[in-house]
Amino acid sequence: MILPYAEPYKIKMVEPMYPSRRIDREQWIKEARFNLFNLKSHQVFIDLLTDSGTGAMSQEQWGAMMTGDESYAGSHSFEMLKDTITSMTGFPYILPTHQGRAAENVLFSVMVRAGDVVPGNSHFDTTKGHIEFRKATAFDCTIDAAGDTANHHPFKGNLDMGKLENVFQVYGRERIPMIIVTITCNTNGGQPVSMENLKEVRSFADRYGIPVIFDAARFAENAYFIKNREKAYKRHSIRQIVKEMFSLADGMTMSSKKDGIVNMGGFIALNDETLYRQATTFNIMFEGYITYGGMSGRDMAALARGLEEGTTFEYLESRIKQVHYLGGLLRDRGIPVQEPFGGHAIFVEAGKFLPLVPREEFVAQTLALELYLESGVRAVEIGTLLADRDPETRENRYPRLEMVRLAIPRRVYTRNHMDYVAAALSNVFERRQAITRGYRILYEAPLMRHFTIELEKMP
Ligand SMILES: *Cc1c(COP(=O)(O)O)cnc(C)c1O
Repeated sequence: MILPYAEPYKIKMVEPMYPSRRIDREQWIKEARFNLFNLKSHQVFIDLLTDSGTGAMSQEQWGAMMTGDESYAGSHSFEMLKDTITSMTGFPYILPTHQGRAAENVLFSVMVRAGDVVPGNSHFDTTKGHIEFRKATAFDCTIDAAGDTANHHPFKGNLDMGKLENVFQVYGRERIPMIIVTITCNTNGGQPVSMENLKEVRSFADRYGIPVIFDAARFAENAYFIKNREKAYKRHSIRQIVKEMFSLADGMTMSSKKDGIVNMGGFIALNDETLYRQATTFNIMFEGYITYGGMSGRDMAALARGLEEGTTFEYLESRIKQVHYLGGLLRDRGIPVQEPFGGHAIFVEAGKFLPLVPREEFVAQTLALELYLESGVRAVEIGTLLADRDPETRENRYPRLEMVRLAIPRRVYTRNHMDYVAAALSNVFERRQAITRGYRILYEAPLMRHFTIELEKMP
């Protein structure tokens, strides 16, 4: 018998969860105006809202918290973090920031100007936000296979070199400050980018003399996929793959809340000293002095350790296998899910799941709410609410796919919890024919409406 995967850690400290009755959940979600962000955490049983900052730290990380050095300048904890990042990525220059979007804010303050065009693979919302805030444009060059849920391409995060070439032909090199490669591609479902593609991007960028920046929140998960799906890397260690990946970039922005396995933090890492010096000024203005940049010494110490743990094969294997275990359970029950499964979440196709609910009534939100009512499991809508309105016409933008994302926090839940989620969603699936109506909007903010929206049930 092949031994199943088992978590390579055990539980030393437990945190209570909050089971609830359907009748209470009905009341709570009504009070929350049918917005899952408005729920209090004790009204949620299993929380799959996000994998960002929700992971569990190890005993070594908690130990490091106790020995963190809180000196304003030159703290030992910063040195530890810097040494870890430099030896892992090869980048000599490091600036800590309080989280990933802060790293974007600092770096783009140096690099992005009004009228610029920044090509990449489905930029993450905050990345796009920081580009558009500077009156520049994010240009999506992801391969077409990424948009086809029936296509099992192993690297759906890849960039299409033809599309990239086209951006340079149309806009010209002068308007392009960098190419951003997001590993894994979050917006796209946590889909990886192959080493082969990273190399193509590198040689393309060299031809034009353009820097390549990685948005590296889930770089370790990306390395795991390369090891598993790209023949040439089968025998490489995760750390060798990570080093090679970053050797193909000029710098990175990082949200440490993902593969750093900490609850808060981020950083910029760079090769170029001039760029580093320029970014330093903005870091001091926006984040803090260059050896802490918005992080406590203890948080930097825990991050240094988290990066080490997060790049071990054993950890990544159990992490990704847990996500794929949940995906497999859902697929086996006939539930429409995006494939191949990504690294950090399973995406359920709400449009196919609830074909009777009109898209004007927010079908993905309807499914996420049904799952909560059924079980206390909190997922998140990746559909029309998130896509927001067209800034000019103010009409709803209907995305091609209405998705519900089940994001799995790192090292937090067990296989039983995955079984529970799958059973809950199966129950909703069994009664899907009876779900015919969705919701309408009572209140929405002019921007980023999904966080604060208020809804009411259609009669
Ligand atoms: C989370 C994330 C960010 C932003 O990081 P925060 O820590 O949430 O500010 C940027 N890019 C990607 C790919 C992310 O997943």
